[in-house]
Amino acid sequence: MKQQDAEYDVVVGLEVHIQLNTNSKLFCSDAALYGAAPNYNTSAITLGHPGTMPRVNQIAIEKAVTLGLVLGCSITTTNYFSRKHYLYPDLPKGFQTTQHIDPICVGGSLAIASANGNKNIAIHHIHLEEDAGKSIHDADPNNTALDYNRAGTPLCELVTEPCINSSEEAYNFLTQLRKLVRWVGISDGNMEEGSLRCDVNVSLKPKGSTVLGTRVEVKNVNSIKFAKKAIEIEVARLAAILNNGEKVHQETRSFDAVNETTFSLRSKEDANDYRYFIEPDLSPTIISQTTIKQLQHALPALPQQIIINLQTQYGLSLYDATSVVDDYETYQYFSEAILTCTNAKGIINFINGPIKQYSKEQNISIKQCPIVAATTANIVNLIDANTITFGTASSKLFAALLKQTNHTPLQLIDSMQLTLQINTDELDNWVTTVLQKNEAKVAEYKKGKKGLIGYFVGEVVKLSKGKAAPKETQEILQTKLMA
Ligand code: ADP
Ligand code: MG
Repeated sequence: MKQQDAEYDVVVGLEVHIQLNTNSKLFCSDAALYGAAPNYNTSAITLGHPGTMPRVNQIAIEKAVTLGLVLGCSITTTNYFSRKHYLYPDLPKGFQTTQHIDPICVGGSLAIASANGNKNIAIHHIHLEEDAGKSIHDADPNNTALDYNRAGTPLCELVTEPCINSSEEAYNFLTQLRKLVRWVGISDGNMEEGSLRCDVNVSLKPKGSTVLGTRVEVKNVNSIKFAKKAIEIEVARLAAILNNGEKVHQETRSFDAVNETTFSLRSKEDANDYRYFIEPDLSPTIISQTTIKQLQHALPALPQQIIINLQTQYGLSLYDATSVVDDYETYQYFSEAILTCTNAKGIINFINGPIKQYSKEQNISIKQCPIVAATTANIVNLIDANTITFGTASSKLFAALLKQTNHTPLQLIDSMQLTLQINTDELDNWVTTVLQKNEAKVAEYKKGKKGLIGYFVGEVVKLSKGKAAPKETQEILQTKLMA
């Protein structure tokens, strides 16, 4: 344990910006897509020209409510937006339209794994706001370039209570949150594209004290790993200050990912004068109870519940069930395969084996894997019917299928002569050979070391180059060993 951990309690609060994956922006119909040519998705409304009128994107409202519902927040049904004024080149209107008075979601929590078991991280609120544009400093040696494509895209800002107590907990919280927003389909959670960004607030207090220490805020951390790193850096820095008998000053810092350090941006004043006032061009957005019910109803089953269902329905282990909900696409793939194959465990083995391995190698999602769920179901059925072994299916057959997607697994098994041998003279001969080669082990088996049967089966399969059907091999072995 590091010295600072022993003397101080670490206190962290996160402000997470989640970019909602709507087609259009929060207050106009400009596309909210990532990756367009600079300033392509900008109309007079995005640029805040005088006389233009905003309109609230209902889908963004619904996505924010969806997030609130899965986190158990209470939903504010009358929503106002306000103007938050400040001058910055990436803010073309001169103000950001944001929720200032009543956020759309209040309270709620997210369960995460922590060193002391499961822990609920309390959420203070979630509010809706529009994003700013982007300043690009490396496009031109003499000027800063501005891209307003992102200006006006919808963000949910989720603010936690200061109840996260280590960098690991913060890491787990962000990982869980990213999984959840992807699961319910409200954000792609891609940190590299800026869909998930966070500000990290860190303070230390004497161990056991109930009074919070002075916090520092590290702005715009754009990866989960960096958030963890930024907290670790700040914990060490703050501990050094306190150990020197000095005082921590409230300030805003920035994270330098290249050098893995933080540096001061500005000392934080208590309240900036943003001259908030309610946006006069927008009437309040009312969310009806019917809409809330519909959104609640449309929620997909959540990972925690699915894990329990999979365990009871198919007798899966916690480990296997958890692997199915790795991400929503894996769960969809599994759900499709199980429609035509009853062996859940077999499907999971095939997904976690060749399918995941290939997807990882090719850097594609399981959805893009050319071996589709129905084919996997088909293969698992063939394994269960003793037509082919798992080993041969996941190596030779899988490789062949990738090259010849217009063939069925059975056609390739036939043409490549991969069919398992069941009750043939050939199988009998392989068994005899293996037993002759392993006289000592045969003697041990006969003395009672019955576990050796697995070893003999393995040897026969190896000798047959994967063609010996394991079940039949075992039966023949048992008969011969009894003699
Ligand atoms: P601001 O918007 O000025 O950053 P807030 O009061 O809304 O201020 O707090 C923002 C975040 O800071 C929240 O996530 C909160 O949990 C966290 N926070 C507040 N006080 C502390 C503290 N003493 N130590 C660590 N985090 C804190
Ligand atoms: Mg803040």
